[in-house]
Amino acid sequence: MNAAPESKTNLLGLDRPALAEFVAGLGEKPFRARQLMTWLYKRRVEDFSAMTDLAKSFRERLDAIAEIRLPQIITEHASADGTRKWLLRAGPALGAVGGDQAIEMVYIPEPGRGTLCISSQVGCALDCSFCSTGAQGFNRNLGTAEIVGQVWLANKLLGVADDGARAVTNVVLMGMGEPLANYRNVLPALSLFMDDLAFDLSRRRVTLSTSGLVPQIYKLAEDTNVALAVSLHAPNDELRDELVPINRKHPIGELLEACWHYLDAQNGRSITFEYVMLDGVNDLPEHAIELASLLRGRDAKVNLIPFNPFPGNSYRRSGREAISRFCDLLHARGITTTVRRTRGDDIDAACGQLAGQVADRTTVRLGSKRIPLVVQP
Ligand code: SAH
Ligand code: SF4
Repeated sequence: MNAAPESKTNLLGLDRPALAEFVAGLGEKPFRARQLMTWLYKRRVEDFSAMTDLAKSFRERLDAIAEIRLPQIITEHASADGTRKWLLRAGPALGAVGGDQAIEMVYIPEPGRGTLCISSQVGCALDCSFCSTGAQGFNRNLGTAEIVGQVWLANKLLGVADDGARAVTNVVLMGMGEPLANYRNVLPALSLFMDDLAFDLSRRRVTLSTSGLVPQIYKLAEDTNVALAVSLHAPNDELRDELVPINRKHPIGELLEACWHYLDAQNGRSITFEYVMLDGVNDLPEHAIELASLLRGRDAKVNLIPFNPFPGNSYRRSGREAISRFCDLLHARGITTTVRRTRGDDIDAACGQLAGQVADRTTVRLGSKRIPLVVQP
């Protein structure tokens, strides 16, 4: 008799060593794991019975105990500028009462590359004051299979371009959630993104964005070498405490130390510091000057993100002039700075608008209540 579906192992959740262990547990030779990965990631076959170079008995065994389960699409939106956004179902947490949750995934095509922005959690506990995901509170971590499944699904939906080029050339963990607060599940996903038997992306094409969980940045430096983006958003602790409440626990000095350590340990090129532009809050010339002095002489880039407003939030986006003045002040001080183009505005696909739908949230917030935050691992 077949096992109940919920007890089946979703193979998308196993990185190469875990899959090898799984296969060994079934008494099969290690090369079977490589064969399985080729079917799964190169040929994108979802049905074990089609994996014809595996013995029939092995395929039947896999069918009974394993599965390849993808996130389900709830809705899809396409923007006039080519950006596409999918709302995906994320079932309720184990043992939770309440309905389904949803997460979002966004595809941003640009000349010569296609970036997929994926989620790592349902909601987020960190409560940054300008972020709509944070405003919803936290519900649960996504499992590795749910994180990997987003990229798998996008590859399947988008296929390959006419010239054979891949549609998804870059993956950024900048959707819903704080990836370093879900370290245990994010790490194997990063390894599959870069594994040549899986998605085969170079380390520079996989970017993890964090609001600054310092201990996890040190751990990350030991465990992987993806590109790092850090949500700085303010040049001093007083302001950052207000915008990014995790700063009260890990202030800017500590965070930057961890960043430079990451670069050294990984022999990385540079770290991108994200900086949301909030009218009259953090966009004044003195802020740019202070920011430049924090980063001067370091391998750092700044990415200015025009604030994306959402209902119930009273910040305003900085004006075009304030943004270009800020950018010029940084440039003049030798800091490479880019301004993020807002994409998918007409379908609410821009940064910080990835609201999804957190139905049975356990509202854990740092901002107002200051509940001590416990993060993995
Ligand atoms: N939790 C991670 C990654 C997800 S957020 C992090 O904070 O880095 C991805 C980026 O979008 C972050 O830089 C975040 O600060 C930014 N962001 C959040 N809300 C935004 C908004 N309303 N407008 C513009 N950028 C926003
Ligand atoms: Fe969480 Fe990032 Fe939003 Fe902050 S900006 S609340 S860390 S998702």
